Amino acid sequence: MKIKFIGTGSGKTSLKRFHSSFLILSNNFKLLVDAGDGISKALLKQNISPGQIDGILFSHLHPDHFSGIGTLFVQMKLMKREKLLKIYLHDSLIPVVKNFIFSSYLFEERMDFEIKYCGFNNNKETIVNDDIKFIAKQNSHLDQYVEYDKDNRLSFSCSSFLFSLNNKIVCYTGDVGKKEDLNLFKGQNISILISESTHIHKEAFPEIYEELKPAKLIMTHIPDEEEEGLLSWKSSLSDEIRDNFIIASDGMTISIQE
Ligand SMILES: [Zn+2]
Repeated sequence: MKIKFIGTGSGKTSLKRFHSSFLILSNNFKLLVDAGDGISKALLKQNISPGQIDGILFSHLHPDHFSGIGTLFVQMKLMKREKLLKIYLHDSLIPVVKNFIFSSYLFEERMDFEIKYCGFNNNKETIVNDDIKFIAKQNSHLDQYVEYDKDNRLSFSCSSFLFSLNNKIVCYTGDVGKKEDLNLFKGQNISILISESTHIHKEAFPEIYEELKPAKLIMTHIPDEEEEGLLSWKSSLSDEIRDNFIIASDGMTISIQE
């Protein structure tokens, strides 16, 4: 079982990195986690056909995590995909996404594949297959926007995830609001922590590492202007922990050992 990083950039469009996304590759299910702007091209760059993807899981609907879905559906239609596609997202976001697809003139009757929306609720386990399970937890990333939704039209669901992959715990912060959101993962027996590094300052990572004790801490969602600082910060870490901090890059693959 593997995780392949498709994009490791931030919300800022970059020529070095695609927006953050990764693919969980298990025996009989490939789950794409987030599909922001440019995802179809990012997959192409990694030699992954949209036809290979069995499901897409969305952390939230910011464009760098979500807005590639329309183009991705177009690729799946053009290649005459027939395999069922599962979309995993918070229950409250299903109508929003369905409406987005419909408003993009992507009609399910005109596609050769069926789309199944699998809604999840926070703090409840979702079983994708024998090897992939996850629990979503609401974080504070979108809290700052609530005041603008005067008519209460929006869902502000934004998830961090606890995955069980091959019975190993892999946490993905998604986009967070503040460092304290990582307390959501406290007390878990974490093997790998995949953390965004735009809303968390690099200086906070050693403390997070101490508190959560993952075997590996992988940093993603990296703005171009932070890259150099991140590399020199990493080289300043002590020998014992340096190798356990990984700065992700597009195309990087890690295996999840049983
Ligand atoms: Zn983002």
